[in-house]
Amino acid sequence: MESGKSSAEQTQPSTELLLKTPLRFFPKVGTQKASLLSKLGLHRGQDLLFFFPRAYQDVAPFCTVAELTRETRCSVIGVVDAIDARTYDDGRSSVGVLLAVEGGGFTRLVWYNQPYRRTTFARGMRVIATGVANPTGVSWEMRHPETQILPAGAPAPKGKPLPIYPLTEGLQQRHIYTAVEVVLDKLRSQVVDVFPESFRQDHDLLSIANALEQIHAPETMEQSEQARYRFIFQELLVYQLALATRRYRLQTDRPAPALPVNGQIHARILKRLNLELTNDQKKAVDQIAIDMGSVIPMNRLVQGDVGSGKTVVALYAMLLAVAHGYQATFMAPTEILAQQHAQRLQASLEGSSCAVELLTGGMGGREKSDLLERIALGTVDIVVGTQALLSEHVSFSKLGIAVIDEQHKFGVEQRAALCSSRIQPHYLVLSATPIPRTLTMTAMGDLDVTILRDKPPGRAPVHTYLGKPEQQASWWAFVAKSVAQGRQAYVVTPRVSVDEEESAAAGATQTWNTLKDGPLKGLRLDLLHGRMTPEEKKQKLTAFSNGEIDVLVTTTVVEVGIDVANATIMTILDADRLGLAQLHQLRGRISRSNHPGYLCVFASPGVSAEENTRLAALASTNDGFELAEQDWRLRGPGNLLGTSQSGLPPFRIADLQRDSDIVSATHKIARDIIASDPLLEADGWSLIRQQVFGKYGMKLDLGSIG
Ligand code: ADP
Ligand code: MG
Repeated sequence: MESGKSSAEQTQPSTELLLKTPLRFFPKVGTQKASLLSKLGLHRGQDLLFFFPRAYQDVAPFCTVAELTRETRCSVIGVVDAIDARTYDDGRSSVGVLLAVEGGGFTRLVWYNQPYRRTTFARGMRVIATGVANPTGVSWEMRHPETQILPAGAPAPKGKPLPIYPLTEGLQQRHIYTAVEVVLDKLRSQVVDVFPESFRQDHDLLSIANALEQIHAPETMEQSEQARYRFIFQELLVYQLALATRRYRLQTDRPAPALPVNGQIHARILKRLNLELTNDQKKAVDQIAIDMGSVIPMNRLVQGDVGSGKTVVALYAMLLAVAHGYQATFMAPTEILAQQHAQRLQASLEGSSCAVELLTGGMGGREKSDLLERIALGTVDIVVGTQALLSEHVSFSKLGIAVIDEQHKFGVEQRAALCSSRIQPHYLVLSATPIPRTLTMTAMGDLDVTILRDKPPGRAPVHTYLGKPEQQASWWAFVAKSVAQGRQAYVVTPRVSVDEEESAAAGATQTWNTLKDGPLKGLRLDLLHGRMTPEEKKQKLTAFSNGEIDVLVTTTVVEVGIDVANATIMTILDADRLGLAQLHQLRGRISRSNHPGYLCVFASPGVSAEENTRLAALASTNDGFELAEQDWRLRGPGNLLGTSQSGLPPFRIADLQRDSDIVSATHKIARDIIASDPLLEADGWSLIRQQVFGKYGMKLDLGSIG
């Protein structure tokens, strides 16, 4: 629980005494309740003040039984008259609670398959139930209503929303209600607002005193929403101010070399690239040239679908640095990808004076020290390697730009500084696949963003099919026919091998065995998976790209970057085990050619591909940006990536998905504020500044509070 810390940040020293008073000293709280509350991390007055309900029971309007209307949501107050619990033959169960409703008459509450409800209620308890009522002939019934147990003898609530707080064993809502009431009464006026009043007015934010009142004791649901809005806004703004501050620091801490473009350099690079840039690529390289032309270090993210030409844009940026006599580095997430990138770069720079070298973990001592020496001397222009290798062990002579090819791992914190010299390189981050807008503004919120939507010309589309189990045979026949016509194919399985019991599921090894002696007999099949040595993997990939293998049975190691234009057929088995982003990445492998691509996804045994929402989404569109948003929605709040993986802080009240509008609003507001007041020195902003640095100063390396 962080509540203690975050509430302390809301206050000024003079009021801290009261706010810090231990809860046991508050009237009506006492030692016993205080010790229960401490299990929730609530120790002092301020902790409880900033302990927010997780939801509200919207009890309005209250009805008597005579006033109940079929299919209409309403609330009744009554006393538990009888409880029954049943178990049916098929194992299902129900719990029924008969309420004697105030004002006369009965309503039955019923829950199916929630046997624990049996112990929630006892005869004589006073209960508020909210739900949709329906007549049963003899009385009324509410299925799965929301309920609250009221303190005996308390006056009936007046139709106000009832807060629902997180609880712990032995503690009930009504205990928290009493304690919150006392704390609100004593402390509400003690809390100093972190926002200047004019700012609150401009952004329609409640004062802190009103917000506290309305979050704990709203008169209406709208009031609770207004209060939540204020706290969500505050939480997200503080984070966005931290990101904007970090961006400002990156721009001003150390200068980068100014590497401007001119007509001659531009023409030379384009000649090297030897292709017509798409419109989006043109815009991207223009923007990058502006960024790199200045001593303010570039920190730019290029997002685009697989095959949209991000690497080409990165190559432009690297060649611009090299044209000025600086070095460039390309950091890939894996050794395989580093190798591939190095090969591609070497091929496209063949015959030029630009020296590209690959640095790998497997290099021998002598070879490696020799390369490191040449990098330090500056005789190597472009160094390709993995992120780990390059950020830890290499010292460059004159590093002008670092390109970071990021895969599923990203985040503000993880983006380690590369170069400890006085000069900082320009940074270009490539995201493997489009990221939902909201995440771009949070996990990558300190970067400037360029988006590539156009596809390079001459790409045939990929057709995606949801395969039924009985269609496998004819699909393999299609694969064989396509191979006969000169194409190559991937067969992807999520796992290397599967256990005996699961023999119906697909492991790469088993699949390879089955296919080569069965449906794809006579074709040149080979097997690739992550447990092979880098040497083996490299050898198989090389054979596949040389056309010596027709069908590559593989795990998801081919997911990223593998570039074999002639491979246009892909089968994914057990596809429901893979994430949407990953599936789309895989599909990208067969969209690199002027031959149309064909993807067929089969689900695990017992799962229907058509009914699987992710697979259906995959088949519904080829647009990675659209899929990223769908994936984000499908996965539900707070779940696109594990928080630790995304590098995002745990938010107390904000939910990035639900609150995406507030994310974009605060993102913009924070950048505007930092643009005009980079150190947050303006009158009235000192408390916010304390929050920004207190929460994120260390984590995001924002420097001292100054
Ligand atoms: P990404 O990194 O976004 O997956 P790449 O930059 O690797 O995309 O480009 C994918 C393929 O398309 C490469 O073979 C590349 O040479 C080619 N390509 C990129 N941009 C263009 C373009 N404007 N015209 C033609 N081919 C292009
Ligand atoms: Mg790429």
